[in-house]
Amino acid sequence: MTLIAIVNCGSSSIKFRALDLDTRENVVDALVEGIGDSIGAGTGKLRLRFPANPEVADIDIAEPVSDTAHGMEMLFRETLATGVLERHGGLACVGHRVVHGGEDFTEPTLITDAVLEAIRRLIPLAPLHNPGNIEGIRAAMEVAPGIPQVAVFDTAFHQTIPPHAYRYALPNVLYEDHKVRRFGFHGTSHGYVSRTAAAYLGIPVEDFNAIVLHLGNGASVTAIRGGQSVDTSMGLTPLEGLMMGTRSGDIDPALPLFLERNRGLSVEDYDTMLNRESGLKGICGDNDMRAIEERMEAGDESAKLAFDMFAYRARKYLGAYMAVLGRVDAVVFTAGIGENSPAVREAICSGLDPLGITLDAGRNAGRGGPKEISTAGSRTKVLVIPTEEELEIAVQAQHCIEQAGA
Ligand code: AMP
Repeated sequence: MTLIAIVNCGSSSIKFRALDLDTRENVVDALVEGIGDSIGAGTGKLRLRFPANPEVADIDIAEPVSDTAHGMEMLFRETLATGVLERHGGLACVGHRVVHGGEDFTEPTLITDAVLEAIRRLIPLAPLHNPGNIEGIRAAMEVAPGIPQVAVFDTAFHQTIPPHAYRYALPNVLYEDHKVRRFGFHGTSHGYVSRTAAAYLGIPVEDFNAIVLHLGNGASVTAIRGGQSVDTSMGLTPLEGLMMGTRSGDIDPALPLFLERNRGLSVEDYDTMLNRESGLKGICGDNDMRAIEERMEAGDESAKLAFDMFAYRARKYLGAYMAVLGRVDAVVFTAGIGENSPAVREAICSGLDPLGITLDAGRNAGRGGPKEISTAGSRTKVLVIPTEEELEIAVQAQHCIEQAGA
């Protein structure tokens, strides 16, 4: 039994899972929401489930949660009281999802004070994410002293991107002083999905060229050569690239100047608009692709425009990365939309037969995977590979502590 906890800490929520790596059983599935919500009592919520131990009753507690430390303390207290952790051999380590590892972190890293300090120094690059991640790490160290804690970075997989792809055509001083460059995100997913796709096709990962489309509420595309990331659509922040649920993706960089001059938008207004009010939602009011497809089928034109824009932009990146790679063994779809929407996959890949991509309508139908959805004759295979970010964080965290002898 090897029980690994995975912590994904946002500014107002904690997602916590404990997986038994030997059986892949989900031992604890927990969510704390409403952290630091000052609107009133009763807004905090702790939800605990124990899928591998159905005899243990679910726990739901509605109680104000003052901060991350308090949320983590509640979560551990309730979990420990059930005895499930001991039943599965106790926690071997905790893997933390950390959004930004900058140029400092190219692999999962055992957390020390120096590592925490380095993650703190990266806050200017990820002001919305790294502070919550740091609080989560601190809180976990408090409630689980003596258990190794590992940081697994969203950016790490993309540290193989070469300078001509990661640099922006801006004055050097911005890179030298502020590390303004493309970092890329969803790295855990792109890494896992590309390795799984290579294994599915029986191609050694070091020979594998692929384009991975991670299409969820956040969305990004990665070009993979020889198993390594060589370009990706997200940039300095997760805003660049594809159109997403509520994020704009690529826009004309002169837009901030235009809006400041013509609408007097503040930095905060602009940030909110691009991150929360744009993308699918900005075009049709919905950011859920299921709802958009239903509305489209009922003849709704703004839903159709949102759908068409989403697919068109993904298709443009697909074409660009085919040119980057030259030889492409596989195009791989993953995440909520990529795994579950045959209509989006069809819209992205249709008519690409001259480029060696031919979908099989029958195989493309239906949700889930892993599966091959291209025709037998398609030069480039098209696959659906479900992403498993939490499992991958657990595997990497375990590998890291083995290497470190922790
Ligand atoms: P994720 O961020 O990976 O959880 O993906 C969330 C997105 O997946 C949302 O836009 C959902 O609407 C979308 N999604 C989930 N299931 C389906 C489905 N059956 N058809 C279309 N989109 C789906």
